[in-house]
This record gives sequence, C-alpha cells and structure tokens, in this order.
Amino acid sequence: MTKTSANASTSANSKIRRSAGPLAKNSGGTKSGPQPKVGFVSLGCPKALVDSERIITKLRSEGYQIAGDYAGADVVVVNTCGFLDSAKQESLDAIGEAMASNGRVIVTGCFGVEESRIRAAHPGVLAVTGPHQYEQVVAAVHDAVPPLHDPYIDLVPPEGLRLTPRHYAYLKISEGCNNRCSFCIIPSLRGDLASRPANHVMIEAERLVSAGVKELLVISQDTSAYGLDLKYAESPWRGQPLKARFLDLCTALGDLGAWVRLHYVYPYPHVDDVIPLMADGKILPYLDIPFQHAAPSVLKAMRRPAAQEKTAERIRRWRHICPDLAIRSTFIVGFPGETEDDFNFLLQWLKEAKISRAGCFKYEAVDGAKANGLDGAVPEELKAERWHRFMAAQQDVSAELLAAKVGRTVDVLIDEVDDEGAIGRTPWDAPDIDGSVYLNGDTRAKPGDLVRTKILHSDDTDLWAERLV
Ligand code: SF4
Repeated sequence: MTKTSANASTSANSKIRRSAGPLAKNSGGTKSGPQPKVGFVSLGCPKALVDSERIITKLRSEGYQIAGDYAGADVVVVNTCGFLDSAKQESLDAIGEAMASNGRVIVTGCFGVEESRIRAAHPGVLAVTGPHQYEQVVAAVHDAVPPLHDPYIDLVPPEGLRLTPRHYAYLKISEGCNNRCSFCIIPSLRGDLASRPANHVMIEAERLVSAGVKELLVISQDTSAYGLDLKYAESPWRGQPLKARFLDLCTALGDLGAWVRLHYVYPYPHVDDVIPLMADGKILPYLDIPFQHAAPSVLKAMRRPAAQEKTAERIRRWRHICPDLAIRSTFIVGFPGETEDDFNFLLQWLKEAKISRAGCFKYEAVDGAKANGLDGAVPEELKAERWHRFMAAQQDVSAELLAAKVGRTVDVLIDEVDDEGAIGRTPWDAPDIDGSVYLNGDTRAKPGDLVRTKILHSDDTDLWAERLV
C-alpha cells in the first residue's frame, strides 16, 4: 500500500494546499442547467482553507457551480498565501497558471494585500481582494459572471460546503493575533485577535457533527488566547451561558461526541487546565504547539509568546496527568543570531520534550518583518546543515515514541480504503501533517469508521495494525 500523509517535515502553517479538482465532489452535487461555474484554487494553511470553504459555501448558496478544472470554469478564484516569500512566489505562479489556462481570474487571501505586486506580474486579473474579504470576493464573482436565479439554491447543506473529506473538518474559533513575533507579518495581514462568540462556534461544531464529521480540528492563529478580546463574554448554548474561554469551549466541544484536536496552542499557564480533559478522553491527547525554537536567546529575538515559560518542565507535568499526550510542533533553524550552542540546545530539548512530530523550516526573511533588521544572519549552507541534523534527531525521537506503541490497543479513524486495505490515524496524528496507520488487507472499513486495532509494527513515521473486532 502506498504511504500517504506521512511527511514529518511539513507544517500546517506553510503547507501549500492546492485544490482545483477535488472541490466538486464535496460541493453539494452538480445540477444540470445554465448556472455559471467558478473554479477555485486554495493555497496556504488550514485557516486559508476555511476562508475558501466560506467563499464556496456562499457561492453555492447563490446557485454557482464549482468547476473541477480550468477549462470548465467561467471564472477562477485563487486564494493566496502570503506567509513567506516562497509562498508568495507560489501564489504568483498559481495566478499565472490560472491566467494561462482560463484568463478570467480573481485573487484573494493573505497575499492579496500586495495588489500592486500581483498586478505588476499579472495585469489581466479581474480583481484583487485581501484576507477575510468574503463579500468583496463574492461581489467580484458577481461582476465577472452574474448569478442566475435558481429556485433550488436553498439545497446547500446547513453545515456549509467543505474541502475536507466528510469525516473531519477544521473549526476556526478566531481570526488575527495579538502577538508580534519578529519573523511574522500575519498580524499586519489579519489584524488583532477577533474571537467568535462561543455559541457561534458551538452551533457550527454541532452542525458538522450532525452531518457526519467524526473529528473537529480546532484552528486559529493563537487558540489558547481564545476569548481574550471578548473578555470571555457568555453566550447562550443549550439553555446555559457558555463563556468564550479556552477551557469552557474545549469542555463544550468535548461533549459533542467527536474527536476534538487542538492546533496552534501556545503554552500559556491556563493550557494546564485542559490536560485533565485529555486524560479523561473528552478531547484528544494532542497539542499542536508551534514552539519555533527552545534556546532562550533565540526565543527572545523571535519575540515568541510564552517564551519565558519553563516549557520542558510544564510538558513533564502534563505527561504526569496525561501520559499519552502527543505534542507536534514546528521549528525554525538558522534564525539570525542562532549560535551552534543555541542549535545544540534545541536538539537536546527536542529529545527531552519528546516532541512526537515536528516540521522544520530554514529561516527565510519576509518582507516587512522586524527580524529582517537583526544582526547575525546564518549562511544558507549552515541553515541547510542544521535542518538535516534537526530532521535526523526528530526521526530518532519519532521512531522511539512509535516503537513504544507496538502491542497497544488503539482506536483508529479510517481516512481511505482501497483494495489493498485501509489507512487511518490514531488520536496522536492529525490529517496531512502527521503519520498514518496501515491496516493491510482490511477492505471492509469505510472512511470515517472508528476501528479498534492492535498495533503490530512501526517505523519512524507510521504504524501498522490489525483490527481487533
Ligand atoms: S503567534 Fe506569532 S507567528 Fe503566530 S500569527 Fe501571531 S505573530 Fe505570527
């Protein structure tokens, strides 16, 4: 069976996700008739993916069809990523490809704030809008291809239209970020923290679960800061007030009966409060914490949130409460001023903290970021060398942690089935960014099934298991 989704070196924050073809299968079906068709290319992180889902949901609710290829589209929307210069270049390339293949292109997303650069490269684009400008994107589509009246437009499902498989969904709980990490320009693109009221999040989550979603992936820029901007305001949920507070939201989500996985969590002290929920099986024993580094001087230069916390010690305490806790993270090597000692400190910390999965980036300057003014640039060859050393160390940690799972009974959520068997994930693995479990020969499972298994074998990324019942 071919391995998929098992690359420990990728990161949700930077992974380019391009979806021009598969959209049609989750787009609520196709209808015969003259409705205009919109093609969609979605780049960047899961937060951008959720933006794409919202735009598509709105367009489908107005009767537009989603085209599966450029040739069949009346207009193409490209949702861009502007996180790194390499991501911007990838966005420009995607716009160029859509222009060459179709010629009627609307640009949106994080890179949309650099309209002049986009228009200089591709003067023929119809419109350029920035992140979260859903109404402007839809208005631009209206201008390009006016919607036709369709008496059946209300047939869009209440949970909206999604780009993910039916059995898992990203749940965005806030936009923006109050932090000012020196390498990042996201706050200038997406603004300060703006949390959704707790009952809005819960209504969406409940609809998703009612529609068959088995796993909710909670995302934002800073998940543990949820509700700070709302002063933890209460809103009514199931006849009771629910506070817009990290712990309260996690508790309520844990009552929905789906897997709940937390992404983009910073290790603020109140994160300690959700660890018992993990130990009790209410939410998954999994934290995605983008540490970026471990050496104090580098964290200080990065201006990372919660950098002053003694995280290795906290992680030990968390594991005392919830021994099964898996931590995935992302790191940057070659940040300006990073010394050999700093880097060795990071490698040692990685082993002590037992980080299950990690993505690693070689530091890249981003236009407009404060870090560009820092001294001590690390040569590219040294960055590359450190990246290889980091990945080798991480593979050793991962292999050791996975080997310790052999012989255990584990619930696996099935993602794919073909005539060779099934591929799924454990509670310790998120889709796309972590590892897989292979159930060779098990062809009776269906995507979305939760299967009790015994782990038989491991390597440095994945597990192999057999069904128990
Ligand atoms: S926490 Fe830092 S890296 Fe993350 S979005 Fe906010 S400023 Fe950027």
